[in-house]
Amino acid sequence: MVFNIHKSTPKELFQLAKQPEFTKQFLQLSDDDKKLCISKIKKYEDSLKNPPPAPRELLKNVSHALMDWAKDGFKMTDKELYDKRMEVCRACKYWNEMPGSPLIGRCSKCGCYGAKQKIRASKCPIGLW
Ligand code: SF4
Repeated sequence: MVFNIHKSTPKELFQLAKQPEFTKQFLQLSDDDKKLCISKIKKYEDSLKNPPPAPRELLKNVSHALMDWAKDGFKMTDKELYDKRMEVCRACKYWNEMPGSPLIGRCSKCGCYGAKQKIRASKCPIGLW
């Protein structure tokens, strides 16, 4: 087992950490990489405590988001705003990234799959953007 701390997702590291060889490789990491590894694993553990909303709640969230988008004239964000939002989401405990795809993931707070960051009228459900 060899892992790349920078490319591995929180979920991958969480699963690798259960394997006996993990400790040996972990101890060889730099202090900064050890911190990064621990924070990624903690992020995944936190996501397990925050499951996505139930289908009914998700439907309500989507319909509200679509109404807000329509009221705003279906405007999209520019790249700068999108990048800022994604930076916040990627650091958020509710963001669950798809393995190997840093810009694809799901917010377990609202249940959105990452399209909302591109919609200008969207808002973070906990007010982070
Ligand atoms: S939309 Fe808000 S709550 Fe959801 S992942 Fe992004 S920052 Fe976190």
